Amino acid sequence: MIAFSVSGQNSIYDWVRDHRIHHKMSETSADPHDANRGFFFSHVGWLMMKKHPRVIIEGKKIDMSDVTDDPIAMFHMKYFWILKLLCCFVLPTLTTVYVFDETWARAVLAQCFMRYLLNLHFTWSVNSFAHLWGHKPYDKNIMPSENWGVSIVAMGEGWHNFHHTFPWDYKAAEMSYLINPTTFFIDFFGLLGWAYDMKEASPNLIEAVSKRRGQQHK
Ligand SMILES: [Zn+2]
Ligand SMILES: [Zn+2]
Repeated sequence: MIAFSVSGQNSIYDWVRDHRIHHKMSETSADPHDANRGFFFSHVGWLMMKKHPRVIIEGKKIDMSDVTDDPIAMFHMKYFWILKLLCCFVLPTLTTVYVFDETWARAVLAQCFMRYLLNLHFTWSVNSFAHLWGHKPYDKNIMPSENWGVSIVAMGEGWHNFHHTFPWDYKAAEMSYLINPTTFFIDFFGLLGWAYDMKEASPNLIEAVSKRRGQQHK
């Protein structure tokens, strides 16, 4: 929750709900960042305008009980603005000034503008770049694609054709550690026992699905 607050994005509740609708209603008008509406809309435009009515209707049907039952997620929702201001802007700026001995101007520029904006654009690139460009070895009939550029900036979230074909695979990619530090992060917390019951698509399943639905290339 603290690490998430550092990114300065919307609440965990909103994020989870929008992500679930995105997978369930992918590339329809009920998808919050429907890539059929173009690069700009899927990248950031969707956050700048009113939601399509179908997004709201479908959003209400999503089971969010696991999130509402989670005291940490609810704590985050309750203190959303305090946590966002503190973790995303105040503490990083103070750390830059007092730990790294930088000037106030540089600290504010680096943390409140550069880091924050880059973080947002890198995250958004999953919904835009990785839904528009890349190859589709697992399912050629969907827009999500394998985009290594997005994987570099979004810590492994660019293997998006795999992620939409096997959304329950915790690695969000076929390869555990190929441009995929997020999997390493989850595995680390798996060792501590904080992350558990991680599901994975078996090599046999991946091969069978790829042969049937994936883009074949020679
Ligand atoms: Zn996803
Ligand atoms: Zn997607």
